[in-house]
Amino acid sequence: MLWMPWLVALTALSCRPAPEGDDVARAREREQMVAQQIAAPPRGVRDERTLAAMRKVPRHLFVPPEVAGQAYADHPLPIGHGQTISQPYIVGFMTEALHLDGDEKVLEVGTGSGYQAAVLAEIVSRVYTIEIVAPLAEEARARLKDLGYSNVEVRAGDGYQGWPEAAPFDAIIVTAAAPRIPEPLMEQLSDGGRLILPVGDAVQELVVVTRRGDRFEKKRVLPVRFVPMTGEVRH
Ligand code: SAH
Repeated sequence: MLWMPWLVALTALSCRPAPEGDDVARAREREQMVAQQIAAPPRGVRDERTLAAMRKVPRHLFVPPEVAGQAYADHPLPIGHGQTISQPYIVGFMTEALHLDGDEKVLEVGTGSGYQAAVLAEIVSRVYTIEIVAPLAEEARARLKDLGYSNVEVRAGDGYQGWPEAAPFDAIIVTAAAPRIPEPLMEQLSDGGRLILPVGDAVQELVVVTRRGDRFEKKRVLPVRFVPMTGEVRH
């Protein structure tokens, strides 16, 4: 009977629910991710709303459990169906480039895991997001709901045509690389609205489009590498 206390002690250890310390550790990892990979020069994302949102959203819950240990590392990760969650810095860079101040209505094309949508939802009042791979859209919808993001609407489908019923948008973000800028997305920008998207195939660049009345100002801002946008944009 001498071994019994040991057995009890071991069982107690292994059956312990996820310790509260885990959340604290993850929060610390996020702090470090933001400080070292996103805010630090030469990258230098400065927008406080973007940084605060990225300190808050539990990125490790947006990736498959087998890669959760790398959730706060400085690279993209696989999320299934041949798709990826973007590198944290790219999420920060694109979010900052949208110049959000809190009241906006934003459209995302390429929901993937739902992480970028959650970051946006921390900042703005309403987020609409479209994902062409139906099971990913369903998973992201369930995940965002479980995490309490009630201001995000997820739709399964091709984002090429945007979301006409909810347009115009103050900002639009596309997180898959398009060979050209989808016309319907430009048309769904409000006056002064911003669109950011990766344009290209083997070589890609992030482009920011700003609507000024009937004019569209385009600016290339950063070389990147995204998964391809599929669907109508390829026709
Ligand atoms: N923003 C995502 C990263 C997504 S990767 C995140 O935070 O996790 C790009 C996603 O765009 C993929 O899931 C891909 O399936 C989706 N996609 C590609 N073409 C699309 C299209 N035409 N319409 C909507 N989604 C598209």
